[in-house]
Amino acid sequence: MDLMFCGAARTVTGSCFLLRDSSNVLIDVGMFQGSVEKRNHRHFPFNPSEIDCVIITHSHLDHIGLLPKLVKQGFDGVIYSTKVTKEIAEYMLRDSAKIQEEEAYTQTKKNLRKGLPKVYPLYTEEDVEMCFKLKWVCKEEFYIDDMHVKFGNSGHILGSAFVEIEADKKIVFSGDVGEPNRPIIKDTEYPDKTDYLVVESTYADRNHKSVEESIQELKDAINDTFGRGGNVLIPSFALERTQEILYILHRLYHSNEIPECQIFLDSPLAIDITQVFLKHPELYDKETLNEFRKGNPFYIPNLQFTRGVEESKEINEVKNGAIIIAGSGMCNGGRIKHHLKHNLWRDECSVVFVGYQVKGTLGRRIVDGAKKLRIYGEDIAVRAKIYTINGFSAHAGRDYLIEWSCRSDADKIFVVHGEFDKNLMLANALSNMGFECAIPNWLQSFELA
Ligand SMILES: [Zn+2]
Ligand SMILES: [Zn+2]
Repeated sequence: MDLMFCGAARTVTGSCFLLRDSSNVLIDVGMFQGSVEKRNHRHFPFNPSEIDCVIITHSHLDHIGLLPKLVKQGFDGVIYSTKVTKEIAEYMLRDSAKIQEEEAYTQTKKNLRKGLPKVYPLYTEEDVEMCFKLKWVCKEEFYIDDMHVKFGNSGHILGSAFVEIEADKKIVFSGDVGEPNRPIIKDTEYPDKTDYLVVESTYADRNHKSVEESIQELKDAINDTFGRGGNVLIPSFALERTQEILYILHRLYHSNEIPECQIFLDSPLAIDITQVFLKHPELYDKETLNEFRKGNPFYIPNLQFTRGVEESKEINEVKNGAIIIAGSGMCNGGRIKHHLKHNLWRDECSVVFVGYQVKGTLGRRIVDGAKKLRIYGEDIAVRAKIYTINGFSAHAGRDYLIEWSCRSDADKIFVVHGEFDKNLMLANALSNMGFECAIPNWLQSFELA
């Protein structure tokens, strides 16, 4: 058995691991984002038609975003995931294809004017459709030849899983690990004893504040901003973070901790995914299930779902007292960029970051303290108050990552899915506890004997 690290090696994004045994199995086939996104256009380091199956841990694009490219280039095997991962993946990939097509169209226009060639999208909506025509198996436990495969709840987003694969040797892929006591979803489970562990390390350098502290920070940010006469912008990932924020706003409103105000969910993708969440109360924790039994846990009076572009533009007229939730979560595209253009230069407004900002994105530049930014060809001053609330993170902090990794009692641990300094911090902590660790390089292979 051998294992090749085709992505998320010394970087956060692009999760993709090739396990070669009696079958060629890919675990995730994620998109690279931020400063490494050029890698999406390279050839896969394997022949897609020789891959027998793909196991998907969860529906974030850094884990599934290159699936349509894989299919387009010849993969026609079986896809395994949880049921909800498949449901959400369809929305995520269609949205991703639309972005790819729009970007290629814009770039082509620019190129042709310069006498340069046409640009093609990584994949189109038709390529996404092909992914869902393939055999897709949604079971918690199954066999691939003599490999026994089992999903465990990784507590990261709705439907997310870690994967245990057992043949001669046993290997666990963490996917992304969430910390317990998160809003909405059930708590993370631990892996059983394994020979090898591949573990994420996104936040290996810090522990997060508790969710309760973060809710307090969000509440204060909203009330302060309304006191100053501005709007609150929340760049939010359409999947999970948006539903958590809606659920928290629902609770804050019903306990009279925030005033009645206009709330815009300005993201067709987030609106669709919120509907998926409503269909799966079986995945909620006890508290959310109780709320669900009383009514819609994401409902707040004056919450408007703005699907159309015209409705979205009308939000520009609202100068104060509104909460605007829009994507993308890292501000590198989507409707949030328009809202930033209209609000970022106003010191009475606020931008509240509730998610991880990858290096090289507009969001990261704002968080890192940029004073001026170029948005849609205009220089925009950054005068709004910037809040970074990290306790909503869908990723485990340092202590829990260490605890989770220890529970696997692995003979060897591969540290992935993190910037290199974070890889090192987790690897050092685990080495000091007696574990053998490696930090794989991109495209490096290991024999698992
Ligand atoms: Zn994830
Ligand atoms: Zn990830």
